[in-house]
Amino acid sequence: MEPRDLSDHTEYVAGQGIEEVARELGRDPSELVKLASNENPFGPSPKAVDAIRESAPGVHHYPKSAHTDLTEAIAAKWAVDSSQIWLSPGGDGALDYLARAMLEPGDTVLVPDPGFAYYEMSARFHHGTVNRYSIVEATDFALTPETVLDSYQGERIVYLTSPHNPLGGQFTIEAVREIAAATDDETLVIVDEAYGEFAEGESARTLLDQRTDIAVLRTFSKAYGLAGLRLGYTIVPSPWADAYARVNTPFGVSSIACMAGQAALEDDEHVERTVETVKWAREYMRSEIEAPVHESHGNFVMVEVGDGTAVADAMRDRGVIIRDLSSFGLPAHVRITAGTNSETKQAVRELNEVLES
Ligand SMILES: *Cc1c(COP(=O)(O)O)cnc(C)c1O
Repeated sequence: MEPRDLSDHTEYVAGQGIEEVARELGRDPSELVKLASNENPFGPSPKAVDAIRESAPGVHHYPKSAHTDLTEAIAAKWAVDSSQIWLSPGGDGALDYLARAMLEPGDTVLVPDPGFAYYEMSARFHHGTVNRYSIVEATDFALTPETVLDSYQGERIVYLTSPHNPLGGQFTIEAVREIAAATDDETLVIVDEAYGEFAEGESARTLLDQRTDIAVLRTFSKAYGLAGLRLGYTIVPSPWADAYARVNTPFGVSSIACMAGQAALEDDEHVERTVETVKWAREYMRSEIEAPVHESHGNFVMVEVGDGTAVADAMRDRGVIIRDLSSFGLPAHVRITAGTNSETKQAVRELNEVLES
């Protein structure tokens, strides 16, 4: 037998891991610095680590109350009803739940190009057809309503990433409002705020009091440092929030993830330290790298280096793993995640040497 025709489905290309690179280079993982996957350089919140340890003896239970408790804590944070919080296995899981809730076979979606690969993968799994809007270098990768609306043809879902990965730019709240207003009533605008903690300005959550066609995605993978646990959520408008019960994977979020997420939410110090360090690193990289660095509102910067693959390979040989952006269709660029102060300085020093040679 055969699976269904998956020929137009693409594979997700993740940034390389430390162990993987260490093995390839024959070096010790502790000598390497990984700035390729927008992870938290300080690791998880220590409070989340304690919660993980404490929840271990209870994992023979299905995660029911842990799920409810975390949902309530997140709902309180955003001042919405608990029904409006859809917990999911990572932000990626949130994308799946929204596609399940919205797409009929053959419906079309509109995704950014360049952009996050999983939008399109998820839409295809759910029998959707993918159209793209281009974010172009000629306008300095501007994220305006026209960027999206010029390509809009009545798609069922429009994906906005704000701050955008890997470009670093963001849509203003006004731009999101304009896009939602200009698209059909039956078009859902998903605002992916995976990097929202690192941005200045308001979350698109503020628009949910007036509109029923916007959903806001958030994750614990970036600022909260819980990427390995797979925890994310969507804030959805109340009129259709009850669809969650019909589309979610039962117990899709583990009890350990729920407990760790709740502890992380309460650890303001960890998030603040992370965000401050990221802001410092963004500015440092912009001022010190001897190549054009785009302004970023995320925990990374995009740098124009000429031959991204060659530069990423040379950096890797020097022990610093960064992201080659050719899989995003940006072969002249690399993306560097904000590290600790010393990691960021090391990355800049090595990059400037590579660029010079
Ligand atoms: C990291 C990321 C996500 C979510 O990642 P998860 O680990 O699945 O939570 C979503 N969108 C973008 C643009 C991202 O970079």
